[in-house]
Amino acid sequence: MKRLLCVILICALLTGCSWFEQSADVDFWCMDTYMNVKIWGGPADSAAQEIQDMMNALHTTWSAANEQSLLGKLNVGMEVELTEEEATILDRAEALSLRTNGAFNPKMRAVSRAWGFYNLAYRVPEQAEIDAALAQEQWDLGAAMKGYAGQKAAALLEAMKVDRAILSLGGNIQTFGDKPDGSAWQIAIQNPYGEDALGIISVYGTKSVITSGSYQRFFEANGQRYHHILDPETGYPADSGLISVTVIGTDGMTCDALSTALFVMGLEEGSDFWRQSDDFEAVFVTEDGRIYATEGVSLSGCEFEVIR
Ligand code: AMP
Ligand code: MG
Repeated sequence: MKRLLCVILICALLTGCSWFEQSADVDFWCMDTYMNVKIWGGPADSAAQEIQDMMNALHTTWSAANEQSLLGKLNVGMEVELTEEEATILDRAEALSLRTNGAFNPKMRAVSRAWGFYNLAYRVPEQAEIDAALAQEQWDLGAAMKGYAGQKAAALLEAMKVDRAILSLGGNIQTFGDKPDGSAWQIAIQNPYGEDALGIISVYGTKSVITSGSYQRFFEANGQRYHHILDPETGYPADSGLISVTVIGTDGMTCDALSTALFVMGLEEGSDFWRQSDDFEAVFVTEDGRIYATEGVSLSGCEFEVIR
């Protein structure tokens, strides 16, 4: 028995973990994507369950595909009494749209639908159909909700007093707390051309690391590729010369909306936007595989140019 305790103690010391620390590692499907939650310390199991319940509740309220959701009701003009949280989210979405000069447009559901991105019935719509869809201004917060969900999960983890956690929400990462050895969380930027990592971003503490990429959802027709991030000015897939944008910051909803907006803006305009802001850092990957990172990003494992 003594020997067994000794072995456990040595293992705990070697792995840097407290051997009585609770941990959870849970996969689930929500918001049309795989999610993974890893939590260490505190009531890890119940925190993982609460996060899962919270994600499901957010999906029920905010899914633009579901006619019974809050957005489904707003989109058919129903009068809905909003909770304080709901009103805040809608206000924030409008504010982010204004801030990005409309590059993030939370009212493009009908346009995404016209392209078949809702029911995987992909097609290239006629210009008149696109114009009519743009004019409908139907809510879709698909470009911001996973970020909001990550930030809400971090608040829940804080309230439940867990030590640290890392959440992968369909490729968007939310970290919470610090690693016990003081080292950074290492987050891979996916290589759009393969399964490997393009580079590694290091972050400390509680951060959102959110990627928008044209490789994430697309279809091919007439020898051309059409992806799901739409330029609100044209209603067509954004043709900005980028293949992905990763945004790093402390406010998940902002980071998510900005990842989409910067993708639409492209490298030049996106860099200028960063210069005028003080609440995020970004990594841009161009279609020809070049990588650009704003000054505050800690990036390794790849060659890149620094944006100042
Ligand atoms: P993300 O992966 O965060 O860039 O979000 C992409 C999703 O947001 C799409 O699948 C659409 O549902 C929606 N969307 C597409 N283009 C835009 C845009 N310019 N602004 C806001 N939402 C958009
Ligand atoms: Mg986004």
